[in-house]
Amino acid sequence: MPDCIIVGGGAIGMLTARQLFLEGVDVLLLEKGPLGGESSWAGGGIISPLYPWRYDDSVNRLAERSKDIYPELTKTLFEESGSDCEFINSGLFTVVEGDSKEIIDWAKSWSIKAEFINDIATIRDIEKSVGDIVDRGIWMPDIMQIRNPKLIKALKASFDHLSIPYQEQTEVEEVIVENNKVAGVRTKQHRYAADKVIIASGAWSAQFSVTQSSVDVLPVKGQMIMYKGEPDLVKRIVLSEGHYVIPRKDGRILAGSTLEKIGFDKSVSSSALEELHGAAVELIPLLDDLEVERQWAGLRPGTEKGIPYICQHDDVEGLYVHAGHFRNGIVLGAASVELMTDIVLDRRPWCDAAPYTLSAQH
Ligand SMILES: Cc1cc2nc3c(=O)[nH]c(=O)nc-3n(C[C@H](O)[C@H](O)[C@H](O)COP(=O)(O)OP(=O)(O)OC[C@H]3O[C@@H](n4cnc5c(N)ncnc54)[C@H](O)[C@@H]3O)c2cc1C
Repeated sequence: MPDCIIVGGGAIGMLTARQLFLEGVDVLLLEKGPLGGESSWAGGGIISPLYPWRYDDSVNRLAERSKDIYPELTKTLFEESGSDCEFINSGLFTVVEGDSKEIIDWAKSWSIKAEFINDIATIRDIEKSVGDIVDRGIWMPDIMQIRNPKLIKALKASFDHLSIPYQEQTEVEEVIVENNKVAGVRTKQHRYAADKVIIASGAWSAQFSVTQSSVDVLPVKGQMIMYKGEPDLVKRIVLSEGHYVIPRKDGRILAGSTLEKIGFDKSVSSSALEELHGAAVELIPLLDDLEVERQWAGLRPGTEKGIPYICQHDDVEGLYVHAGHFRNGIVLGAASVELMTDIVLDRRPWCDAAPYTLSAQH
């Protein structure tokens, strides 16, 4: 019998299972599809929230901690798996209107390098391909990115390398609770006993009866398109009005993303393609000449303020919730996992855990 079952094998579940395993916990991860096949595969992998100054400190605290963890984590994953997560520095240029002083002060308070630029020649020294609408904004030169499918591949290979137990195509139907204490989980075929269960089921985290009333996570669809370009054609991540362009190492260029609250629907639409392409071409006009190679959608685990749940359930001993990272599961993930691990192992948490409890968000 494992000590701890993790329900959901996205980036959050995989990173959590791996960390607990490394700390000596006997884990079992159960995933209804293939590992990392949902939002964690579909995302942009920007290692910063978009417009981070608009977020609560509790989100930025995790983001800043993760930025310190990823260099070593991606290096270790490479050593374990031979798989490169493409953790690279692209910097992020964000078009902003109005007063930038507050943003610069905010960045200083978090020791984040940020500079306001409103001279198009200087902006083009940073990214030569930008269009005319990119004429003023905030340049953050230290922002990194990870290529999501490569992170998933590296994590999966790390599981195999370290022999971390997991089962794919295994859907958990019920979390078993006896006398207000977790006793395990049930799938169609089996009952798995465990004293601890972590719900890391992304957008699906409210599905279990024990979590329905308290875990406010809703699917928020995000569509993305990908262009086929040459390496270094575009070098920087550029963002304006919620639309962004992310250049990958091999010349692929992603443009995202939509925000759609329409339930568990992952279909892609021609209207989204038009919206994303139109916005991308305004940011980087040369994209108009490139082929759109692929379009896809993912379901973000949405919460109202974007603050994730990282906590023990209020009413059920041994039940933990690690979900609701919304638009920032990759950037928050590494630090969020450290906090979840502290809580599960009953250690003093590395940061104040109060903002991430179920009650804090109701
Ligand atoms: C278009 C888009 C762009 C994004 N860009 C960024 C970005 O640039 N930076 C960033 O940090 N974040 C970004 N995100 C958000 C990020 O991808 C998510 O926050 C993150 O992937 C959430 O990880 P997760 O493991 O919680 O969820 P998921 O990856 O969705 O994993 C949850 C897993 O649980 C499994 N599951 C569900 N129910 C069950 C069950 N009953 N039994 C077993 N398994 C179950 C699912 O199959 C799934 O694999 C983006 C997301 C999208 C869609």
